[in-house]
Amino acid sequence: MSANDPRCSGPRVAVIGGGVSGLTAAWELTRRAPQAAVTLLESGDRLGGVLQTEHRDGFTLELGPDSFLRRLPYAIGLCQSLGLGEEIIPTDPAAAGTYTVYRGRLLKMPEGLAAMAPRRIWPMIRTPLLSPAGKVRMGAERFLPRRRADGDESLAQFARRRFGREALERIIQPLAGGIYMGDPELLGMQAAFPQLLAAERECGSLIRSTRQAAARAAKTPPAPGDTLFAALRRGFGQLVEALCAHLPAGTIRTGQRVESITRCDGAWRVAGRGDGQQFAESFDQVIVAAPARHAGAMLADADAELADLLRGIPTTSCVVVNAAYARDEVPHPLDAAGVIVPHVEGRPIAACTFSSVKYRGRAPAGMVLLRAFLGGAARPELIDASDEEISRLVSDELRHLLGATAAPRFTRIARWRDAMPQYYVGHLERVAQVEARAAALPQLELAGNAYRGVGIPHCIHGAQQAVQRLLAEAPTPIPS
Ligand SMILES: Cc1cc2nc3c(=O)[nH]c(=O)nc-3n(C[C@H](O)[C@H](O)[C@H](O)COP(=O)(O)OP(=O)(O)OC[C@H]3O[C@@H](n4cnc5c(N)ncnc54)[C@H](O)[C@@H]3O)c2cc1C
Repeated sequence: MSANDPRCSGPRVAVIGGGVSGLTAAWELTRRAPQAAVTLLESGDRLGGVLQTEHRDGFTLELGPDSFLRRLPYAIGLCQSLGLGEEIIPTDPAAAGTYTVYRGRLLKMPEGLAAMAPRRIWPMIRTPLLSPAGKVRMGAERFLPRRRADGDESLAQFARRRFGREALERIIQPLAGGIYMGDPELLGMQAAFPQLLAAERECGSLIRSTRQAAARAAKTPPAPGDTLFAALRRGFGQLVEALCAHLPAGTIRTGQRVESITRCDGAWRVAGRGDGQQFAESFDQVIVAAPARHAGAMLADADAELADLLRGIPTTSCVVVNAAYARDEVPHPLDAAGVIVPHVEGRPIAACTFSSVKYRGRAPAGMVLLRAFLGGAARPELIDASDEEISRLVSDELRHLLGATAAPRFTRIARWRDAMPQYYVGHLERVAQVEARAAALPQLELAGNAYRGVGIPHCIHGAQQAVQRLLAEAPTPIPS
């Protein structure tokens, strides 16, 4: 039943944006308020936003995300509710550990580096990654007092304060900053790494906190397959397909770019361009699940201040390159999840995942699939590099780092422009202002990766909460 269906007796609800946030919101609305007529408006010609999977010659290519954190229940819960529980796969035990780059060469990250703090002494003492002084400084973290000040601080300030400059450059920036492809001098601890602040607050030291957690975990070892990250067997495209398949026919409308959302006669007037012409429709309720800068543009007339706050959330861009090789053309053992490259190495790639090692079945027998990441805060210009330039950079890097003896059999390049919101210092204060202003707009909610977590589980949870808030507000149906 769509919003224009004459049989519709409940509120007309528009969900704007067809990424995982918007699709989850639409599905949650359909489940929890079956009488509502939900319409999902997506500007592009495909759904899923940055979730995009392609299948080619027996390879499963993830063009965007490839994993979700299991620790949060929301992604697993959603998959189960859609009948995908059996499709969740753990990371392969062969993908334990990570390589880093040190003076141009691959080196294993020291074992036992949980939550960025060393849990085991020997691997830290033996690693050539840090100088003797750098190791002493990192180890001294155990004895440093907690921070007394309340305000936010950057990841770099936090890391230098607790572990010293070398650990920041060699361990913390590539491990933590890499998640956001961000600048550690700007990323804010409170929004981007609250678990590290909590560890400092509760235990006084991250080293102590990780050791206590390790001791607890040793008493109840994880079941086989209970890995930190998981994926779907055939990629996140499965999740997108399942969400779409569970929505009533007529709910989804692609190729509909929303340009403005304005309050008009006690309803929301959603206007934009689709199928080569302008459209304008009235809805009782709206969930805006488009990226923040687009949400800001849409809401400029409804609340100019909210629009400015939304447009002020910074983003970075990145390029993901799936590269397929014959296994015997890559001499490296590929005995890890991948390689992370510290900014100080000044290399064009930020990371490379050994995709078909991490998740079985991503490449056919005798082949291997590698996924390189470029761009981000360290190399923003690479988003505009040509396909030829990007392919050449990746091929050269994988030859240098992994000893690849030939060019990839094929590459698939995906550009994600402004797709990664950056939670800079003070982000939570901005989000509190956004939420306060959005709360003053009746029957309208925001969801998406720009607010309280960029990960897929966070986006799913954010969308579910937006639906819950919307359903708690009694709508006034507009006369048809
Ligand atoms: C390369 C990359 C790798 C990542 N890896 C991981 C990972 O491994 N694990 C993890 O948990 N997270 C990962 N993330 C983060 C996570 O995937 C995203 O934060 C999340 O998928 C965002 O979903 P979303 O629906 O909020 O936004 P989006 O996916 O950006 O979707 C927003 C949608 O809104 C649409 N839209 C925009 N403007 C309009 C308009 N005017 N009208 C209508 N529609 C509009 C867009 O076309 C898009 O489809 C990664 C992100 C990227 C970019």
